[in-house]
Parts: sequence; structure tokens; C-alpha cells
Amino acid sequence: MVTGGSRGIGRACAVGLAREGASVVINYTSNAAAAEETRKACEAAGAKALIVQADVSDAAQAKALIEAAEKEFGKVDILVNNAGINRDRTIQRMSVEEWDTVVQTDLSSIFYTTNAALGGMRERNYGRIINMSSVIGQMGNVGQANYAAAKAGMIAFTKTAAKEFSRFGITVNAVCPGFVETDMVAALSEDIKKTLIGLIPLGRFGTAEEVADTVVFICKPSGAWYTGAQFSMNGGQYM
Ligand code: NAP
Repeated sequence: MVTGGSRGIGRACAVGLAREGASVVINYTSNAAAAEETRKACEAAGAKALIVQADVSDAAQAKALIEAAEKEFGKVDILVNNAGINRDRTIQRMSVEEWDTVVQTDLSSIFYTTNAALGGMRERNYGRIINMSSVIGQMGNVGQANYAAAKAGMIAFTKTAAKEFSRFGITVNAVCPGFVETDMVAALSEDIKKTLIGLIPLGRFGTAEEVADTVVFICKPSGAWYTGAQFSMNGGQYM
């Protein structure tokens, strides 16, 4: 299950997991055409793929999403909590709605999906939960208090869930990418992009595929001893 699997990092995770033989559930909220493209890419990799529209910031829809996956494939072994948005504004100018929407979409959603998937994972004594946090949750950033707080909250949630679930054979890890070339970063002005690249010792943004490779690694047997970890990948922007 990849939440926000229609585009960007989520799409790369869905396709990467499909290549490794996983059946994939692609969740999206509004861009059905993009979800369809991801489905085709997963099927081209030889996997079964199901698209489910659900707004994961809504508890009932997040629960229904997990139930739809369990109905189709019998279980959810891997949950990639990737769906996320940003609404950037300085704290002084930020509206309550901008705060709430980001915290609800990026942070509360992972409680909803994890809570819904936990029962099945416990029954089978196996699970891999990966939370797509961000370097911004580790270092903070001007104009991103809502996003930074949500992403930092994801790290704390990850550590707590890792401690609670380890006895059930379930690992929980956070992936913390720096700036990655997706629609989220494409929305920035060329000037801001240039400034940001200047802050990255390796001199470039990351790719969605690089992030997805780490997600796939965590799900393989070779990733089995990682839990409660933060996988920082940011071109050296934050050490
Ligand atoms: P993106 O290209 O903007 O794609 C966002 C994805 O999330 C889309 O699939 C979107 O679905 C989905 N989504 C948004 N709100 C949703 C909701 N309420 N319910 C279900 N799905 C929802 O973003 P991205 O850059 O790939 O980022 C993916 C994740 O990585 C996010 O959590 C982001 O914070 C994190 N991240 C990104 C970067 C970066 O530089 N790009 C860096 C660090 C961390 P639709 O297609 O239907 O809109």
C-alpha cells in the first residue's frame, strides 16, 4: 500500500515495489489520470495493481482504504505512508486552515492508516511500515512551520510505533529525503531552486527513484534489522 502513489515519490515506490514482486495498492486523492499511469507502470513490471481513491486526512476514508486493500489482496504487508502536501507561509501569516490541513494530511493520516493496518499485520506477525518524513522535519525551515512540525511528528510517531510493534514482527522506519525533483519542488520559482541547490553539497536535487530504492531496501530481508530508524538522504544538506 502506497498512499499518494499516483505521482512523484509515491509512484516511484509503487513501481519499485512492483518490480520486486509485490502486489500494489495505489492511493490518490484527486489525480485519477496520474494514478492510472502508475497502475500501468506497475502492471508493466509484472505486478497486480489496484487504484483506490481516498483522502487519507479523513479517518473513515483511511480505514476504508486499508479495508479495500485487504479485500482485494487478503492482507497489507507493506504500508508506505507517503501522501503529503505543503502550504508554505511564515508563522505570522499562516492561517489556522493552512496549519490544520498540513498537519491532518501529513501527520494524522499516518495514525489512521497504521491503526487500520495493524490488526492484520499483528495476526500474521509481519509488517513493514515506512513513513515519508523530510529533512525539513529534522532541521526546520522558514515558512514551513506546519510542514516541519508534521514531518518531525512523523519521526516521533515512527520511534513510538517501532517500540510498540517490534514484538509483533513489524518494523517502522522513517525516510527523510531532502529536496527531490517532483511536482512539489517543481512548484518553486527558478530563483529559489537555484538557492536551494547551492545549499546541497552534492549540487543537485534527489530523484524519486533514489528515495524509492531506500524504501524497497527496507522491505527486503536485508532491511529486516532496521526499526525506528531515520534514513536521511539529502545530498549532504543536513548532517
Ligand atoms: P507530490 O508529487 O506532490 O505527490 C503527492 C502525492 O500525495 C500525490 O500522489 C497526491 O495525490 C497524494 N496526496 C496528497 N494529499 C492526499 C490526501 N489527502 N490523500 C491521499 N493522497 C494524497 O509529492 P512528492 O514530492 O512525491 O512527495 C511525496 C511525499 O514525500 C510527501 O509526504 C512529501 O512531504 C515527502 N517529501 C517530498 C520531498 C520533495 O522534495 N519532493 C522531500 C521530502 C519529503 P493526487 O495525485 O491525487 O494529488
